Amino acid sequence: MQECMSNIPARKKTGFVPTMGALHAGHISLIESSTRECDYTIASIYVNPKQFNDPSDFLNYPVTIDNDIKLLEAAGCDAVFIPETSEIYNNYSGYIIDYEGLDKILEGAYRPGHFKAVVDIVYRLFDIVKPSFSYFGQKDYQQLLIIKKMLEQTEMKITIRPCAIIREESGLAMSSRNMRLSVEEKESASQIFKIMESIDKAKIVNQQAKLIEEKITERINSVKHLKTEYVSFCEPNSLKPVIFFVKGSTVILCLAVYCGKIRLIDNKVLVF
Ligand code: AMP
Repeated sequence: MQECMSNIPARKKTGFVPTMGALHAGHISLIESSTRECDYTIASIYVNPKQFNDPSDFLNYPVTIDNDIKLLEAAGCDAVFIPETSEIYNNYSGYIIDYEGLDKILEGAYRPGHFKAVVDIVYRLFDIVKPSFSYFGQKDYQQLLIIKKMLEQTEMKITIRPCAIIREESGLAMSSRNMRLSVEEKESASQIFKIMESIDKAKIVNQQAKLIEEKITERINSVKHLKTEYVSFCEPNSLKPVIFFVKGSTVILCLAVYCGKIRLIDNKVLVF
């Protein structure tokens, strides 16, 4: 596998998977989607300090570069870009877009400045790598919408491919942060998906979303180690709050939950 991109022939289809490393099967599924569709697949590993609101979260973010490279190689990734902060931010102060409010809700409300930092880094990486396709996990659903919005506002011709959430056998959405959960916390964290799964659409159609959000919050908070930050039914394109569950509509349930000190996010699409 190359560690630079200088030998990639022009006009081939290149797929790009930006990551923060500590790779798991969720990341690898993105790589596999790219290798299926593209001639060349490039991953990046860069833990962007600017997108962390909590300095201790940044300092404790797992770094497993040697293992990451092995996993990427085994998955058929052709090159990995592991930039230094000086390479990224030298003479580059960021990229400005109109978020149309998407940066102020859900993750944006609890992590001020997070999405600006995400847009800054992804724009810079796109400008360096210049891929034809880029693969993003639906686990970070709001991020995916914002990256699509960014591309609508640039000249870049990059197609975004959303990829399904990969879960552990227990249902817990894979995340690099799961490595920091104890065995007992992991068991608690797996209840989050089980609670989402148990929503009976037939029973809640025509009901107020707020009531169901309250019930879900109560159930999650009754599990040891878990404390919700938000639980919100949203319209899937704008992430605006849903008021009623209307037959025929599609909504996405988005949530952020602390499991001990570790903040986890997850979501589930519901078609009524
Ligand atoms: P990260 O390293 O957390 O910045 O994630 C890099 C990419 O992997 C993002 O597009 C994430 O949405 C995606 N990703 C992370 N976890 C998962 C997962 N469990 N399933 C699918 N994609 C994921």
